[in-house]
Amino acid sequence: MADPHLHTPPLPEGRSEAGFTDYKPALGPAQALAEANRCLYCVDAPCVQRCPTRIDIPEFIRKISTGNLKGSARTILEANIFGSSCARVCPVEVLCVGACVYNEMDAPPIAIGLLQRHATDRALQEGWRFFEAGPDSGRSVGLVGGGPASLAAAHELRRHGHACTIYDAGRWLGGLNTTGVAPYKLRADDALAEVAYVLGIGGIEVQSGVQVGQGIAWDTLLARHDALFVGVGLGADRALDIPGKELAGIVGAVAFIERFKLGKVDLSAVRRAVVVGGGNTAVDAVRELIGLGVPEVTMLYRGAQAQMSGYAHEWKAARIDGARAIFGAKPLAYAGADGKVTGVRCAGQGGEFEVAADLVLLAIGQARLGELVAGLAGVQLEGGRIVVDADGATGNPRVFAGGDCANGGMEVVNAVAEGKRAALAIHRAIHRAIGRGLAASEGAK
Ligand SMILES: Cc1cc2nc3c(=O)[nH]c(=O)nc-3n(C[C@H](O)[C@H](O)[C@H](O)COP(=O)(O)OP(=O)(O)OC[C@H]3O[C@@H](n4cnc5c(N)ncnc54)[C@H](O)[C@@H]3O)c2cc1C
Ligand code: SF4
Repeated sequence: MADPHLHTPPLPEGRSEAGFTDYKPALGPAQALAEANRCLYCVDAPCVQRCPTRIDIPEFIRKISTGNLKGSARTILEANIFGSSCARVCPVEVLCVGACVYNEMDAPPIAIGLLQRHATDRALQEGWRFFEAGPDSGRSVGLVGGGPASLAAAHELRRHGHACTIYDAGRWLGGLNTTGVAPYKLRADDALAEVAYVLGIGGIEVQSGVQVGQGIAWDTLLARHDALFVGVGLGADRALDIPGKELAGIVGAVAFIERFKLGKVDLSAVRRAVVVGGGNTAVDAVRELIGLGVPEVTMLYRGAQAQMSGYAHEWKAARIDGARAIFGAKPLAYAGADGKVTGVRCAGQGGEFEVAADLVLLAIGQARLGELVAGLAGVQLEGGRIVVDADGATGNPRVFAGGDCANGGMEVVNAVAEGKRAALAIHRAIHRAIGRGLAASEGAK
C-alpha cells in the first residue's frame, strides 16, 4: 500500500537495487555502546564545526552511552531532520569523522555516522515524533522540487505554522536521495520511509508530477503563495558531443542509476562497461556496475588520478571491488556495430587507443537548472546557479533557493542545511511583512 504521507505509488517490486547490501553495516547495541564510550566529548568539538548542519555530536553520543536513545535521536533531528539518510550518505571521512581528534592520536576516529544511524534508525522504526506544527500563521509557502533541500525547508516552515505545498516533477519524493544515491549507502525504500517521517509533521501538501516552468507557471505560484523556495537540484546528465553519440548503449550515469534504483535493469549481455568521468558519480557508477554483475568495468578519466574530484576513500573502495581505470584518456569517438556501441576511441598514452565496451555511462556532470527561474524578476544567475546570500535569499524578496541548484552540486547534508536556513529566513521575512501590514492598518485607523 502507498504511504499516506507520500501521495505517491509504492515502488515497483523486484528492483535491481534490492541486490545491494550495506557497504557500512549498522552497529549492534553492544557495538554502539562501546563506540559511544570511546568519545572524548571534546569542548568546542571539531567534528561539530565540520558538520554543515552543526549537529551537537558529543551530546548525541553521550546520550547513546547513557542508554538514552530517544534523547540522542532528538538531538540529531533537531539540527538535521534528514539525520537518518545523512548518517548513511554523508562523506564522513571528509566531514565530521575527518575532524575527530583521534585522527591526530593514531587511533581510529569515532564512527559518528554509524552512531547517528543507530539512534535515527530506531527513531524511524519506532515512529518517535519530536516536532509538531506551529499555530497556523495564515501564510503559505510554495516549495519547488521535492528533494532534501525543499523537504527540510518545508519541515522547518511547518514548525513555524506556515502552510506548505511541495511541487515535484517526479513520481517519488526525496530527490536524489531516492533516485541517485548508491544503494549500498541508501536504498530508495529507506529514502521514502524517511520522507514519510519528515512529512509526518502534517500540513505539507504534495503535488507530484508537476514540472514548474512547464506544467505550471512561476507567476501562478507567486500569486498562490506568500513566498517560494526553489530546490530543483541539477538537471540531466551532460553528453559528449563526439562521433557515434547516437549509438545505443550510451547512457547518462544519473539516468542509469535512477533506472536500476527504481526499476529493473538486465545487464546479462554486458561483458564490458566503461564509465567516463572522474567525480563521485563516476566512482559510484563503477561500483554499482560491478555490484550489478558486469564482469569488467573501466573508468576513463581525462586527467591524472590526483586530479579526480571523486573522493579518494570512495575510489579506494572501488579498486577493492575490482574497478580498473585509465587516466589521461580523452574520448574522441564512439565505435559501434549494428547501431550499438562497441567501444570508446581515446587520445592519450602517447597516441590513440580503443577501449571495448557494450555499455558506456557518462558521468561528466549534470546540466544546471538555474535557467529555469530566468523569468522570475530579480533572481540572478551565475554559471547556471541561482545566486543567493547566506540565508538563501535571491534578489527577489519573495523567492529563496538552496541545495544543488544554488550551490552547484554538493552533498545531501548541505542541501538540508541550506533548506533549513532559508526556511528560517522566509519565516523572518513573513513576520516582517505581517508587521508592515499591521503597521499600515494601524496607520489607516
Ligand atoms: C549519482 C549521485 C550520487 C550521490 N551520492 C551522494 C552521497 O553518497 N552522499 C551525499 O551526501 N550526496 C550525494 N549526492 C548529492 C546529493 O544527492 C545532492 O546534493 C542532494 O540530493 C541535493 O538535494 P536538492 O534537494 O538540492 O536536489 P535534488 O535531490 O536533486 O532534488 C531536486 C528535486 O527537484 C525536482 N525538480 C527538478 N526540476 C523541477 C521542476 N521544474 N519542477 C518541479 N520539480 C522539479 C526533482 O524531481 C527532484 O525531486 C549524489 C548525487 C548524485 C547525482
Ligand atoms: S549529518 Fe553528516 S556530517 Fe553531520 S554529524 Fe551527521 S554524519 Fe557527520
